Amino acid sequence: MHDFYSDTQSRPTRAMREAALDTPLGDERHDADPATLELCERVADMLGMETAVFLPSGTMCNEIAIAVHTRPGDEVICTRESHIIFAESGGPAALSGVMMHPIDCERGMLTQQQLASAIRPRSAHAPRSRLLVAEQTANLAGGAIWPLEQLNSVAAVAKAAGLATHLDGARLLNAQVATGVPAAAYARGFDSAWIAFTKGLGCPVGAVLAGSADFVENAWLLKRRWGGAMRQTGVLTAMCLYALDHHVERLAEDHALAQSIGARLLDLPIIARVLPIETNIIIADLDQQGPDARETSRLLREKNVTVTVVGHRRIRIVTHLDVGPVDADALIAGLAAVRRQS
Ligand SMILES: *Cc1c(COP(=O)(O)O)cnc(C)c1O
Repeated sequence: MHDFYSDTQSRPTRAMREAALDTPLGDERHDADPATLELCERVADMLGMETAVFLPSGTMCNEIAIAVHTRPGDEVICTRESHIIFAESGGPAALSGVMMHPIDCERGMLTQQQLASAIRPRSAHAPRSRLLVAEQTANLAGGAIWPLEQLNSVAAVAKAAGLATHLDGARLLNAQVATGVPAAAYARGFDSAWIAFTKGLGCPVGAVLAGSADFVENAWLLKRRWGGAMRQTGVLTAMCLYALDHHVERLAEDHALAQSIGARLLDLPIIARVLPIETNIIIADLDQQGPDARETSRLLREKNVTVTVVGHRRIRIVTHLDVGPVDADALIAGLAAVRRQS
C-alpha cells in the first residue's frame, strides 16, 4: 500500500515498540506512571505551559478544552474548515452545548480584523463570544502555517475582549520544524494547547493537552467523566517519549517529500491547481475534464495508492514516516494513469 491518506497511517516502528518494553509502569490515575509524568512535563515545557494531561486522542483534547473554557450557550469562534467543525462528530454541540461561529478566511487563518468583527458586544440578546480556537498547522488549508506574528496578534485580540484561547496543535511540531520557531512561541497567546502523537510523530495512540494547573485540574475531571482515564499508560507514553527524541527533526523529510510531490503534480494534466505547500499536506484540485475526486480516489486505490477526498474535485495527500520516494513514484504514476482512463 502507498498510503497518502493521512499521517495517522504510519505504524509504530520496531525501535519505538521496544522503547515501551522495559519502561517502569504505574497507574496514571494515581500520578504513578513515570513515563506518563515525564511526557506531560516535557510537553508542558515545549508549549510553555504550567502542566499537562495525557489523553487518548486529539479529539478528546479539543472537546475537553472547549468544555472547560465555555458554558452552554456560549459561542466558539474558529475558521469554517476547522477540525472541531468537520471531524469531531458534533462534539462541541453534544458535549458542551456551545454554538459555533465559523469564519470564512484565507488559508485557514483569521486576521485581527476578522476576529474583532466576529466578537459580539456583550448583550442579553446575543450569545456570549467565549472562546477562540485556532489550528496550527491549518489542516484543510493544506498544512498552512500561521505566521507567528499573526497567531500572536489574533490571540491578543481574543484576550483583550475577554475570550479564552485554545490552540489545536495536531501538527504544531510540523510548523516548528518548518520555520524554526519553537512551539512555545506559537502557543504563547493561548490558555491551552496540545500536540498529537499519532500524526507525524508516528505513535499508535495519544495526545497531550497543556495549560495552567487550574485548567488541567478541570481537564482531568472531564477525562475521568468521559472515560478517558486509563491505567498503565506507560506502554503508550514510552513510545511518545521515543517519538519526541527521534521523530521530530525528521518531519523535515516529510516536508521535503511533499514539496517534490507537489512539483510533480503540476506536470499532470489531471491536476488543475495545488495549494501552496508548507509542511506535509498537499491539497490538489482536479481538472474539470477528468473524473471527480471520489472516482479518482477509487481508481488510485486499484493501484494500491490511497489519498483523501476533501471536496468534489479536491484531494488531500499527506506525507509521513511510512511513505518515501518509491511511494511518491507510485502516486504520480497512478494519477497519470487516471487521466488516460477518463
Ligand atoms: C487529527 C486532528 C485532530 C484530532 O486528532 P485525533 O487524535 O485523530 O482525534 C484534531 N485537529 C486536527 C487539526 C487534526 O488534524
